[in-house]
Amino acid sequence: MSTVTAPAPHTHDGHAHKHDHSHAHGHTPGTGGGMECCSHHNIELERYMLLYLVGGVLVVATVIARWLFPQSIPEQIAQFPALLGALLLGSPLFYAAYGEVRRGYASTSSLTSLAILAAIATGQFVVAGALAFILLVADSFVRQRAWGAQRAIEELVGLTPDTARVVTNGQESEVALTAVKVGDIVRVRPGENLPVDGVVVTGVSTINQASLTGEAAPHEVQPGEPVYAGTTNLSGVIDLRVTQVGSDTTIGKVTQLIREAEQSKSPRQLIIEQVARFFVPVTLIVAFVVWFLTRDMNIAITVLVVACPSALLLSSPMAMVAAFASAARLGILIKRTNYLEAAAGIDTVVLDKTGTLTTGRFAVSRLVPAEGVEGAELLMAAANGEQHSNHPLAKSILQTAEAARIKPDGSGGGDFEEVHGRGIRARTSMGELHVGRASWIREIFPNLAEQMKAVEPRIEGMTGVHVVRDGRYLGVVGLEDRIRFNAKAVIERLRELGVRRVVMFTGDRMSVAERVGRALGVDAVEAECHPEEKHALIQELERAQRRVMMVGDGINDGPSLAEADVGVAMGLGGSDIAANSAGVALMNDDLSRIPFLIELGRRTRGIVVQNIAISIVIAIVGLALAATGGLEAVFGAGAILVAGFYHVIGDVFVIGNSFRLFRFGENFT
Ligand code: ADP
Ligand code: MG
Repeated sequence: MSTVTAPAPHTHDGHAHKHDHSHAHGHTPGTGGGMECCSHHNIELERYMLLYLVGGVLVVATVIARWLFPQSIPEQIAQFPALLGALLLGSPLFYAAYGEVRRGYASTSSLTSLAILAAIATGQFVVAGALAFILLVADSFVRQRAWGAQRAIEELVGLTPDTARVVTNGQESEVALTAVKVGDIVRVRPGENLPVDGVVVTGVSTINQASLTGEAAPHEVQPGEPVYAGTTNLSGVIDLRVTQVGSDTTIGKVTQLIREAEQSKSPRQLIIEQVARFFVPVTLIVAFVVWFLTRDMNIAITVLVVACPSALLLSSPMAMVAAFASAARLGILIKRTNYLEAAAGIDTVVLDKTGTLTTGRFAVSRLVPAEGVEGAELLMAAANGEQHSNHPLAKSILQTAEAARIKPDGSGGGDFEEVHGRGIRARTSMGELHVGRASWIREIFPNLAEQMKAVEPRIEGMTGVHVVRDGRYLGVVGLEDRIRFNAKAVIERLRELGVRRVVMFTGDRMSVAERVGRALGVDAVEAECHPEEKHALIQELERAQRRVMMVGDGINDGPSLAEADVGVAMGLGGSDIAANSAGVALMNDDLSRIPFLIELGRRTRGIVVQNIAISIVIAIVGLALAATGGLEAVFGAGAILVAGFYHVIGDVFVIGNSFRLFRFGENFT
């Protein structure tokens, strides 16, 4: 930063932001696209219940007719219901296959459809119907039953009540949740779950936010504080003003993201799909060759059914859904699958100091007024200047002022400017105030450098906030924040996990940074960074082929969080999670989630690799058994149905194996 001699403070080097926190609103990750995925026949049990029933009855009718009246009914008539049944039961598959072919690639539905049609073509209507029945029922049953994440989602959704108690003109009325609008006042009694996101307007209470944050300790709320749908009101009656409803609520977004985890196409999933695509022609060719050599259509049919790459296609999505659900339970919101994949390979972790490694709650330790200035004037000016800032330092200064019965007068809201990572400028009843870091004040008021230097020794090791009133130096407020209780243990855990470099970034002074850095045992400390310098340092690390995870409190670390391979934003209260540039948001500010995330990423990667390997082995073994006629030799005419069951084995394995991820973290606290 070059020194600016003729300062125009509010346009100072172009980094002034007029009270803006540059939220990227409307950024809902992963929406749109991906819907056409589901190469796997994604069929719900209930939706096709009637179809199963009618189709099943038709097929069974043929079986019974032929058994009861083997001679008296002509074969064509006896077989007719089974043909109808097979076509009915096959129809969802045919429809899915049509979709696949139209999109230009045949996949599992095409292969199984072909098998059913081949069975029909060879006159085996009962077999075709039974095969379709097995494929459909077993498949959807397995999905419904074993899909732990689906259950987890249902649990999350179940946390939000269907109705809300809206208060209008003092009158309570129970209305459907869908009718609640942003801005409404909603009353919540003790013991009830919150139906919406909102801000408390009246009442105090304690709230259990475990469903969002994974943290059971009750959270106290009072007017002005944000509260979240799906959490439980424990002790008091509160009225809240609705800020988000339905899928816009934080819990709604969590649910949405878990659902999208199945659909999103990471690079890995694309590779898997390519491999699966390769399977299809191979299976077709094998089936054709077998048929050509043996002229036995049944063997060809078993080949088509057995060698389906359906389990392969599920390998990654199932693991991702389970991992997302496991993470969500601990209050870790992962926005896309590729962030979880990247977490597995992280070798460098960069942590912001204020609000991340430290609690972000500062205590004013010292007031150092300049010569001839009263301590009260210094504090008053600092408080007046900071009253419209959300920075942790500002909040702490205001609290201290309040404790000293100094009240900011509310002026300055119109002419207020926060320069991120530097300080604030405001025109208030006390005149023009500049409150901020030494280097920034020095740039604007080079003539005050001497005076500022004089107070430095008195705030050694503290964060210094300097105050200038109409160009006159008032002194410095020295503050200290506390290191989070588990910060050191977490950094040790990161090293155990093989993270090679742990770096601390801060906009704070070197003396503070060194004290904290030494206490925590980080490898390097970068102090006095501006937000854009933090961003540049992340870029530098990435150019050096580092795989970087950046952890910040999301207030002004946005660019860095977006730049890193994995950006992790801390805390539900910090800033608007959805608007955050980070790929991962922590609903609580428990640092232990960071090593957990890396571990979860690795376990997920391990599970995906297992899933892929096993499903390929199952498909190849099945192909070998079917193509050599082994299946038919053992099971005879039943071979096709056995193939149908075999087809499901891979899916069952992949789902069960992925479900283990959901359990990982169950005992994590
Ligand atoms: P960190 O990198 O530690 O999270 P920031 O980038 O938020 O810190 O801020 C860097 C420095 O800029 C702070 O240590 C403080 O000196 C100064 N600063 C930033 N915002 C303010 C503010 N609102 N009031 C006073 N000082 C501020
Ligand atoms: Mg910060």
